[in-house]
Amino acid sequence: MSSSIIRTVVGDISADEARRPLTHEHLIFSREDTPGAADALRRLRARMDRDMATLAATGCNLLTDVSPIGYLRWGDLFRRVYGRTGIRVVAATGGYAERYLPAWFARLSADRMAERLTREVEEGIAGQGMRAGILKAASGYRTPEGPGERLFHAVVAAHRRTGAPITCHSFPGLAAHAAFFRAQRLDPEKVALGHVEANAWPDVRAAARAGWMLCFTNLGSERVVPDDVAQGQIVALLRRGHLRQILLSSDFRYRIRGGVVRAVWPHRRYDHVFTGFAPRLRALGVSARDLEVILEENPRRFLAFRARV
Ligand SMILES: [Zn+2]
Repeated sequence: MSSSIIRTVVGDISADEARRPLTHEHLIFSREDTPGAADALRRLRARMDRDMATLAATGCNLLTDVSPIGYLRWGDLFRRVYGRTGIRVVAATGGYAERYLPAWFARLSADRMAERLTREVEEGIAGQGMRAGILKAASGYRTPEGPGERLFHAVVAAHRRTGAPITCHSFPGLAAHAAFFRAQRLDPEKVALGHVEANAWPDVRAAARAGWMLCFTNLGSERVVPDDVAQGQIVALLRRGHLRQILLSSDFRYRIRGGVVRAVWPHRRYDHVFTGFAPRLRALGVSARDLEVILEENPRRFLAFRARV
């Protein structure tokens, strides 16, 4: 295996082909047993076409959908995005926080979970005609518990077998996740701790010093932290020399409630990273060169599969 492929739902590409990749988004974030999902998907298509055309116009050609097992992962929708706009989607395998794991998955041993994740990366996601290109772990508590702890071990085992990068929902668990991966002696460039902005600043600094990739999310939303708070954190991290660890992704998503598709927040879309957030960083004094590293080089390096040795 090459050391520099990114696995998308329309095939593996050389990491050099990825332009301004987004590393933490969801086209739709709803459980796979959501009533009315197929109809909702049909109604979402035109809106998604417009969103993705707007995103493609910013120069982005790759988007990572981090919805894991138990959530809608629609091969047809992901391939449609590519067909219409040339944006390749990277699909995820793994799990969300403990209480959101499907019952059948939560019952599995860590070894069985790892087999499932490995299969979804190497062979494909059943019925969807696509392979996963990223592994997701999450915990709802500071420290992963029960099936959550098994999920973390499974993600590490699947990473070792496949070389796929790891993305984490690390709020409120940033410090515990960093400690867990450190004990596993993983390459910090292949692990993105996510929702960094919502954690305590001493935890953010410690994770930065340990070298982990730090994914800032919920951009364009006031729901978790306002953009200017995340921007302040990023400027402070740049001053401390952590340029090559910063990832930006809006974590924008649609969801289905009562058969109706809603945007998770009304006025922002997937292009906000490039049209709103990054220009503001530039105005705060971040150089054009540093922004290129953050928007282009960091996500490309992170998403590339690790060479198996
Ligand atoms: Zn998310």
